[in-house]
Amino acid sequence: MTDTNAQTSGPTAAPPVLVLNAGSSSLKFQVVVPETGEKRAGGTIERIGESGSDVADHAAALKRMTDDLRADGVDLDSVPLRAVGHRVVHGGPDFSEPVVIDDAVLERVRELSALAPLHNPAAVTGIEAAREHFDVPHVAVFDTAFFSSLPPEASTYAVPRDLARKHAIRRYGFHGTSHQWVSRAAADLLGRPVGELRQVVLHLGNGCSASAVRGGVAVDTSMGLTPLQGLVMGTRSGDVDPGLHAYLGREAGLSLDEIDTLLNKKSGVLGLSGVNDFRELEKRLADGDTEARLAFDVVVHRLKHYVGAYLAVLGGIDVLVFTAGIGENSIALRAAVTEGLEGLGIAIDRARNGARSRQARVISPDGSPVVVAVVPTNEELAIARQTAELVG
Ligand code: AMP
Repeated sequence: MTDTNAQTSGPTAAPPVLVLNAGSSSLKFQVVVPETGEKRAGGTIERIGESGSDVADHAAALKRMTDDLRADGVDLDSVPLRAVGHRVVHGGPDFSEPVVIDDAVLERVRELSALAPLHNPAAVTGIEAAREHFDVPHVAVFDTAFFSSLPPEASTYAVPRDLARKHAIRRYGFHGTSHQWVSRAAADLLGRPVGELRQVVLHLGNGCSASAVRGGVAVDTSMGLTPLQGLVMGTRSGDVDPGLHAYLGREAGLSLDEIDTLLNKKSGVLGLSGVNDFRELEKRLADGDTEARLAFDVVVHRLKHYVGAYLAVLGGIDVLVFTAGIGENSIALRAAVTEGLEGLGIAIDRARNGARSRQARVISPDGSPVVVAVVPTNEELAIARQTAELVG
């Protein structure tokens, strides 16, 4: 149920930040020193609140985490924690930056559960338990914050204005912490100021999203009001005809909740091929599985669609970046997405793309008009840094 991996890479004087990512039945944690990036320890508590699990709730999970960390040589009672940074999925229209959590902030995050019913309630539970447990400043870092800069023409859905205003309907975007981190890291890799680059960032993990970033500022992204929109993901459909909802209601007799579950949990790569893990999909692909082939091709087609769209939005790009589990590791996916785009200045070097590495790296040929890069994301360190910056 617990997986800890302590990395005792030498003691540091600077007190660490505890980064928490509370899901409905899981708690991911990392103890990080923001300045150096040193990861003291980390892990995941799973099956929280599930039947047969001995971790009843998030408070019990925190207790378990503390015990596990102590066993790994990180005693949170004696190591002074600087702060706790919480990943919060939806910041709604209110939060465009990290904030120190007080009762009012917590209440607002709770209210935003209407916009993110699968995510925000778990964050609230996690924050409540952690505030009880650790008497240090707590900071919320929002997955939507980086995209609060989207211009109105990109963030506005063409639905009646009064309805949109009343229900806070707009494109919010998600994975913002990752897109921001990766776009800056890509600029560092190139040794160029982020302010002068036009980038397309592809965050491809269990959840997938694309962003268009001009001068370090997000100007478009593929996820929307919820994390369901855009790219094809492990279990989420991404873009479908909005008419599908009414059609399924009429023809298949599904309720709105059933359709929501269908599109969030049973669709995407899973719905097309029967597996959601991309490594498994690649294995089946190698075995000549035709459903796996179609799933892969649909994923790639949608990705090209967004790369092309953002090329037009930005008026050309300098950098195309791949990140997250699939983006950082799938040689086949990167090759397929970039194939045939030479006319747009996008190409990869086969050997560079095929070389395995955990480092940020360029995979396009020297002198290519568009630099194609693989940049590992590090949302925990990004959250730790933003938290430390805020609490001083
Ligand atoms: P993340 O959400 O960033 O942890 O990414 C999870 C996804 O990355 C899963 O679909 C994994 O199958 C995929 N992934 C991880 N390692 C590899 C790999 N070596 N090749 C292909 N996909 C991978």
